[in-house]
This record gives sequence, structure tokens and C-alpha cells, in this order.
Amino acid sequence: MSIVSMLTGKCPKCKSEKIFNKQGNLLLFRIPKMNAKCENCGFLFLKEAGFFFGAMFVSYALIVAQAVAFFVMLHVFLDFNYVLTFISIILLITLIGTINYRLSRIIWIYLFYAEDD
Ligand SMILES: [Zn+2]
Repeated sequence: MSIVSMLTGKCPKCKSEKIFNKQGNLLLFRIPKMNAKCENCGFLFLKEAGFFFGAMFVSYALIVAQAVAFFVMLHVFLDFNYVLTFISIILLITLIGTINYRLSRIIWIYLFYAEDD
């Protein structure tokens, strides 16, 4: 499993086509659209209904890890007080929500379908 192709959102089988299409990928509060299948190898990105339910747990783990990292950075290193730290964390998590959405689905599909290089 190549971490680079995972982070760039490439197909887990052939690693040449993107899982998400380009439209609105990084726009706030707009759900990124997945391509139905890989144009190169025909791998179906959109699996059966409910397949990406588990990506919610990956997303939760990502958000907790990011919140802890932000807390350490803001409160411990930059000496923000608790209220300012809390507000900053909520703001930062909201701003990177679209990225987390994409990343959690990519991690989820790679957990089950990634092929070794
Ligand atoms: Zn492919």
C-alpha cells in the first residue's frame, strides 16, 4: 500500500485515476463528489449502499487526533487559555472538515481494496 497514492486520492487498484473528481473538493461545506469508477481499470469506487458508513469511524479518529494535536500546539506551546484553545479547535476542525471527509473515505477504501505495489 503506497501512502503517497492514498494521500493523493488515487485508485487503490491501479493508482492512476483519482477517487474524487476535482469539482468542489476543497470548498467548505460542500460534500466532495466521488467518481463512480476508475476510468483506467474499471474499479468501482462507489460500492454497495452503506459501504462508507465505516468511514465515519475513521473520520472520528482523524478529528480526535487533530484536536489533540491542535490542543498541544495552541495550549502547551503557544500558551492560549482554555476558552481560546477550545474556540480555535472548533474553528480549525470545521475548516478542514471537507479534507477529513475525503481522507476518511480514501483510508476506508484502501483498508479493504488496496493492492501491494
Ligand atoms: Zn484504477
